[in-house]
Amino acid sequence: MRAFKAHLRGLAPYPYKKEEAPVKLDQNESPLDLPGELKEEALARLRAIPWNRYPEIHAETLRKRLAALLDFPEEGVVLAPGSNLLILALALAAEAVLDLSPSFPHYAHAAKVAGTPYQAVPLGEGFSLDLGALLEAFRGGVLFLPNPHAPTGALFPEEALWALAERAKEVGGLLVVDEAYREFAGTDFRSLAWENPHVALLRTFSKAFSLGGIRAGYLLAAPEVARVVREVLPPFVLPAHTGAILEVVLENPGYVEKVVEKVVAQRERVYRELLAHPIWRPYPSHTNFLLVRTPDAEAAFRHLLSQGVLVRRQDRYPGLEGCLRVTIGLKEEMDAFLRAAFGVAYA
Ligand code: PMP
Repeated sequence: MRAFKAHLRGLAPYPYKKEEAPVKLDQNESPLDLPGELKEEALARLRAIPWNRYPEIHAETLRKRLAALLDFPEEGVVLAPGSNLLILALALAAEAVLDLSPSFPHYAHAAKVAGTPYQAVPLGEGFSLDLGALLEAFRGGVLFLPNPHAPTGALFPEEALWALAERAKEVGGLLVVDEAYREFAGTDFRSLAWENPHVALLRTFSKAFSLGGIRAGYLLAAPEVARVVREVLPPFVLPAHTGAILEVVLENPGYVEKVVEKVVAQRERVYRELLAHPIWRPYPSHTNFLLVRTPDAEAAFRHLLSQGVLVRRQDRYPGLEGCLRVTIGLKEEMDAFLRAAFGVAYA
């Protein structure tokens, strides 16, 4: 087959394997669906919009609304069906991609797909940022930095982000702070991007906003950065139905706080209880998941699955040997997880 570019030969598939289980804690989703009354309102809007017409070319109306809500220039907002697609657009546009190891795997995957030179800087001791190594490696291109970090759940010090933002300016690169889990950490790095055109923020509606199935994310960036990303993406990229649903949640964002409150309460409880585990070790988290170290990820994963609890293995990443990632669900789901976790037998 000679249809495709040579660099795509042997491209590894995105690391996700679907499994069924009554307690689903494997995709960092919100455990709660959108509140019923908002779903009804969204359905009413879907009925009202014409399905035969294309949506706005760059989701202008929503962009305006988001910009006003976030006190961010409208020309700097890019909406897309999922922040994954924005990552791909950035990787396609980038001269080079830099990220951390371990990190959210889509950065590396997108760079590979794009054929963009790629480098990863290992995390330091205890999942800390190796700022010296990162500053040294960042010589242009795009640096993807999830904060809070996935898949460890760590939160990096603000001073480190400011230093990287300065470095981005110095070398003419772009620091992309991926704030996918920001609501669970209570962080907001808009101030980093307000003054510095070399910083962009990536956000998603898939986690705290409970809209994983709807596919929506956005980029906040300098107008010249946003323009490139918009042009790399196909026109009319945000489906009309996604836009209509987003309108409703932006008018009624109150439920998000409740999702966050519930998830954070369970996260802290599960973390505390796991500290008493005879063998497994949880890491502190600022997200809607916990990273848990076990002696054998495959055995621990299979044991949990046999008890009806599906989590995600992370042990193929360097430094995460034996690790599982457990999405935080509702109290009953976390009860089931803890029962299974404490029922595990090791010689
Ligand atoms: N960034 C990070 C750090 C994530 O963990 C995820 C989802 N797992 C995404 C981006 C992608 O989110 P979306 O659903 O908006 O594509």
